[in-house]
Amino acid sequence: MSKEENLECSFCGRKKAETDLLIAGMDAHICDKCIEQAHGIVEEEISEAKSTSLSKDLTLKKPREIKDFLDQYIIGQDETKRAMAVAVYNHYKRLLQDKNTDDDVEIEKSNIVLVGETGTGKTLVAKTIAKMLNVPFSIVDATVLTQAGYVGEDVESILSRLLQVADYDVEKAERGIVFIDEIDKIARKGDNPSITRDVSGEGVQQALLKLLEGSVVNVAPKGGRKHPEQKFIEVNTKDILFIAGGAFSGIDKIISKRLNRQAVGFGASLEEDTLDKDNLLQYITPLDLKSFGLIPEIIGRLPVLSFMNPLDAKTLRAILTVPKNAIIKQYKKLFLMDNVEFTIEEEALNYIVDKAVHYKLGARGLRSLCEAIFTDAMFDLPSSDEKTLNVTKNYVEAKLSNTTLKKLKATS
Ligand code: ADP
Repeated sequence: MSKEENLECSFCGRKKAETDLLIAGMDAHICDKCIEQAHGIVEEEISEAKSTSLSKDLTLKKPREIKDFLDQYIIGQDETKRAMAVAVYNHYKRLLQDKNTDDDVEIEKSNIVLVGETGTGKTLVAKTIAKMLNVPFSIVDATVLTQAGYVGEDVESILSRLLQVADYDVEKAERGIVFIDEIDKIARKGDNPSITRDVSGEGVQQALLKLLEGSVVNVAPKGGRKHPEQKFIEVNTKDILFIAGGAFSGIDKIISKRLNRQAVGFGASLEEDTLDKDNLLQYITPLDLKSFGLIPEIIGRLPVLSFMNPLDAKTLRAILTVPKNAIIKQYKKLFLMDNVEFTIEEEALNYIVDKAVHYKLGARGLRSLCEAIFTDAMFDLPSSDEKTLNVTKNYVEAKLSNTTLKKLKATS
């Protein structure tokens, strides 16, 4: 027998002739069958390790730790960060609860609704929580949802996205977080139950109910009804955390009206004095959501209600430089990749904030302002010998012409 034919798999002992493939290592050989088997073992071990690490992760994070994590990315919004920390902690406690105990206490889901103007960080809070927990996260816009059978997306499409993000790992998706943006846009028009069919409002709220509450839903993997041939995937939403957000514009009037009524009712002129009229959202209650047009069942399934404060100049200034991935830190890194040392003076930062406040551009506007300011430098410096960029107030002023500012205002 030739030396070649003598070779055998060091794992199962098959002769070379009995295998389709025999791969040589330093002192050993492995056949195709053993590779396949080993691959299976590796997969199994990894998925086991993943699920134990998931539960280990979850037990580790206490509300205070969750809040500390959020603090690294989100400026201010303390009430919401605390409420979220507790809600998320309880949510995952619920997942870890011992299903075998025979007490009848069942911890209910703590889905969350965040009320606050656009650009105040609602999505950021939800995204950051998902990042911390390392669970799949998807954002859906409630405005595109319609009742089944109408033009638009069925509510089930919410889960298609989550599945996609989870690489179609159903178990992973079932522990994910979904952020439903613009939940206020599916409010019932008017405070009375509509007699006519309300396709985009109450119907969608009704359809959302079963998702929020927890049920097994048939999900089309690619979403929508454009691929009728595709098989459905069953997703159980019982452990998915839903965070809904909306600006609820005009709700301050509803809150104010309710507070006035209460003040009259209980003779509480005292309350009147201590009310912070500039930020009425902090007094929001589920009742106000109902007056706005959310149906009581939906409100009941979003038991944690919190609000976002409007961003003042001090907060905007901090957003520029303080968070872990603050905008200015990002530019610094971008320039550094071209070996350009980037610095920016305090006066320049304050000028950017002034413009954002003056033109009411909000936190998102900070990014657009910076783009407008730094694009020239980002274009020129990579091919120049200049290795420093010190941004002064004059520099910023020169880059931000009135036309640029007006354009930003128009697109914000
Ligand atoms: P919303 O969902 O309320 O409309 P986002 O979460 O999308 O607002 O916020 C827009 C952007 O503004 C975020 O990506 C972030 O860069 C910035 N931002 C808003 N609020 C904060 C905050 N409190 N701390 C840090 N960054 C913020």
